[in-house]
Amino acid sequence: MSLLSFEDALLQLLDGARPLSEVDSLPTFAAAGRVLAASLASAIDVPPLDNSSMDGYAVRCADIPAPGVRLTVAQRIPAGSVGHSLAPGTAARIFTGAAIPAGADAVVMQELCAQGEDGRIIVNHVPQTGDWIRRAGQDIRAGAEVLARGDRLSPAQLGLGASVGFAALPVHRRLRVGLFSTGDELVMPGEVAPEALPPGAIYNSNRYLLRGLLEQLGCEIGDLGIVPDSLAATREALRLAAVSHDLILTSGGVSVGEEDHVKPAVQKEGALELWKIAMKPGRPLAFGHIRKEGGECAFIGLPGNPVSSFVTFVMLVRPFILKAQGALRLIPAALRMRADFDWTHPDARREFLRARRNQAGGLELFPNQGSGVLTSVAWADGLIDNPPGQAITCGDTVSFLPFSELLY
Ligand code: AMP
Ligand code: MG
Repeated sequence: MSLLSFEDALLQLLDGARPLSEVDSLPTFAAAGRVLAASLASAIDVPPLDNSSMDGYAVRCADIPAPGVRLTVAQRIPAGSVGHSLAPGTAARIFTGAAIPAGADAVVMQELCAQGEDGRIIVNHVPQTGDWIRRAGQDIRAGAEVLARGDRLSPAQLGLGASVGFAALPVHRRLRVGLFSTGDELVMPGEVAPEALPPGAIYNSNRYLLRGLLEQLGCEIGDLGIVPDSLAATREALRLAAVSHDLILTSGGVSVGEEDHVKPAVQKEGALELWKIAMKPGRPLAFGHIRKEGGECAFIGLPGNPVSSFVTFVMLVRPFILKAQGALRLIPAALRMRADFDWTHPDARREFLRARRNQAGGLELFPNQGSGVLTSVAWADGLIDNPPGQAITCGDTVSFLPFSELLY
């Protein structure tokens, strides 16, 4: 089987991702991380009125040609109340966020005013029109788009939506993902104590890793646990998972050894392509679908090695899931950063190296880049995306994909 390039694998996966059409209206409080299903415009200016950015005095600039002018304080305007028109020769005591009264054209902050013995204030500053005034609409103009379709809603965007009055937001339904691990060597933490671990057994780390990754993408997870290495059990699990999920995600069993049953099981229950992708780690990946009543369920089989599972998930499955959930920004933005290490034996495949930013503004590499070394992923704060065959010398600029881009 010839190697498929990473780019082609990604294109084919994205081509197979069908965005969910169902839209939920969710309280804005509950919409963090969900994908907005329609662009939304503001019905109002924000702020709605010119208002004071400081505690101080609203004045007419024409009254204050020089420092030291005395003005009668004719009204008091706390936030939330509206004053009346400011008469010439008077000031209004005003507080942060309160509406500027008609006739006033500046605020002088209280630190620049003094209290006269006659009850008037002394303005020790010559204001310019607009000083300490936040103009109506300076944040948002009525009619402007505030939230864009396809955005995954951040806390700041929820606040922005609330600032124009949205108590509920239209969002895409969450993707339902059926998850299982294959491998007769796998045992669950808690079921067998470390000192009692039988020879040949290992703990199922992928189940935790992949659940965490799916949760961060806002998926609903149906966890089918560990499926034994047999064709019948694998087919059964696929059929069962297909019923109530949009995507089945598995780990392990996608090589072509006789203990790898995922490929023949998917072929019997639907259709599948098994790719050898020119990426390291993470060569084998299976993509296809499982037939079910009234349609089909997408299928992605990840390699069993935990680092391979992780890298293929964040680089390939994540964009697939984002697209299926209606998101429009699918591909993470890479940073150009300095390598503070040498990488002298590059692979002929595109490599995703576990690296971490240092205090000096450069990147350091985890010493063991093996595909079974999950410590490298836990240590790292991103992946270096290294082109095929590219050696790296200290001081070179490389492409870095921070986990802040890949793990949310
Ligand atoms: P496989 O893809 O099934 O051939 O597995 C490749 C390697 O990954 C083997 O060393 C497996 O023991 C290991 N592996 C498979 N599944 C898991 C899992 N869920 N957690 C940890 N290691 C795994
Ligand atoms: Mg296996």
